Amino acid sequence: MKIEIADCSGFCFGVKRAIKMAQEALEKNKAKGVYSLGHIIHNSQVVEELSRKGLKPIKELAGVEEGVVVISSHGAGPKIFKQIEAKGIGLVNATCPYVMSAQKIVKSLSDEGYSVLILGDRHHPEVEALVGLAGKGAVVIKDEEELEGQKLPSSRIGVVSQTTQTSKRYFRLISKILSRGFSEVRIFNTICSDTQKRQESAARLAKDADLMIIAGGRMSANTKRLFEICSEICKNTYHIETAQELKGKWFEGKSKIGIASGASTPDWIIKSIKKEILSIRGIYAR
Ligand code: SF4
Repeated sequence: MKIEIADCSGFCFGVKRAIKMAQEALEKNKAKGVYSLGHIIHNSQVVEELSRKGLKPIKELAGVEEGVVVISSHGAGPKIFKQIEAKGIGLVNATCPYVMSAQKIVKSLSDEGYSVLILGDRHHPEVEALVGLAGKGAVVIKDEEELEGQKLPSSRIGVVSQTTQTSKRYFRLISKILSRGFSEVRIFNTICSDTQKRQESAARLAKDADLMIIAGGRMSANTKRLFEICSEICKNTYHIETAQELKGKWFEGKSKIGIASGASTPDWIIKSIKKEILSIRGIYAR
């Protein structure tokens, strides 16, 4: 039996950076309180570990009067930054630089009077922040099919994608947009390079695997995309958060196992999944 882990796995640069910034904020400000608006990253195990160290996830700023608020790697909209400033509380902005770059593009499109079309999950914090910056002209769609019947306020449109989308879906959307007769279309590639490499390495592994395990948080957008990509290639693809979710029957008669992980999945979870698969296979071999 062969178990292979995708070349690009474990934390991405943006997640490592956000965790480091939260840890530093905890070291300096623990006495006053350190809060994260939403989950600092989309991985429950890491969020729990940071909570044990003192980081308090909050849904809104009401009730926070002192201490420091850490903005997650997914970013936040302008309203949040204004609220933090008005309250006079500390701010640690851990927004991933790739997300920030998408935010700058959206803001300048909006300032120049373009309607902004965003490909992404409308309830994801990254997309909510982009909508906040895009103003009234923002439209969010989850795929090219949703473009049908969508009325955009202007015939000058700017198109961006959530940083964790698949390029395949983005290209399908772009070709549909170009056939719609808008007077001006500006397209930006806002898919982050880590996402692209991760998707490519998971797809390569899935081509040769009998079974694929995708490890990552249920809320993690990039993990969901990896699951979609690998499911199209390998029909035995499973999305799990931790090794406890593995089922022995999945591995019956399988000899090539691939493991790919989302950008917010720590190495220790990937290692524990590999270890558990080896022990399951041990039971089946008896
Ligand atoms: S997946 Fe990309 S955009 Fe998201 S945090 Fe990681 S590096 Fe940043």
